[in-house]
Amino acid sequence: MSVRDQLVQLAELGLTDQNIKELQNKQKQLSQKAKETQLKTQVLLDEGKVLEAKNNELVAQKRKLDSDLQTEKANLRKWEARAEKIRGDREYTALISEIGSLKKNIFHIENKTLEVMQEQEDLEKKWNDVKKSSSKLQKRLEEEWALVKDDLAQIENQISDCAGARLKLTEKVPAVLLKRYEQIASKRAGLGVALVKNEVCQACSRMIPPELFLRVAKCEILEQCPSCQRILVTEEMSYVAVVHES
Ligand SMILES: [Zn+2]
Repeated sequence: MSVRDQLVQLAELGLTDQNIKELQNKQKQLSQKAKETQLKTQVLLDEGKVLEAKNNELVAQKRKLDSDLQTEKANLRKWEARAEKIRGDREYTALISEIGSLKKNIFHIENKTLEVMQEQEDLEKKWNDVKKSSSKLQKRLEEEWALVKDDLAQIENQISDCAGARLKLTEKVPAVLLKRYEQIASKRAGLGVALVKNEVCQACSRMIPPELFLRVAKCEILEQCPSCQRILVTEEMSYVAVVHES
């Protein structure tokens, strides 16, 4: 294969990769807004989950307090009933002291219950706010996706067309050359070739030595830009490449 043919193939490959990159950028731009909203929605949904777990905790805490209260009240009734029947001084004093500490305990449980209920109330308010905001955001998210859905699908198709065309191209390019291209591309933002115009590399804007430019323009050599290392192709080659491509 002549150097010229190789350069044309590389130019074509570069154009295809450029197209894919542009399409991917478009895709990114189009979905950016919805993705940001998605992130915000997720933060709220996560916050909601935390609040839900906290609420479950409080419900369990309240249930335990209610049950403790019932137990202690039943005990109190029992001791009070016994106190009424007792005549002996010493036993009576012991019972009264027991009753006193039960009452203290009941008072404590009731206070704690009030605290938990207040906490539940505050939490519910917060949780409702979060739910409201997150459902608002979810609605907005759906609208934002709906707005770009068709365009995104179209771009997806174009990308898959380009990928198909690229695959066909790579089957034609000699393996060694393809490997060289891919190696450069992997280090240079996905593009292994650069257009050289008026002795200036269009990828990195650096000057190319005149004699090198001449040889590239004459399709005599496969040469890399001394600065960005991409394989240099001229406008004429990319023109040929575009004609090939269509
Ligand atoms: Zn360059």
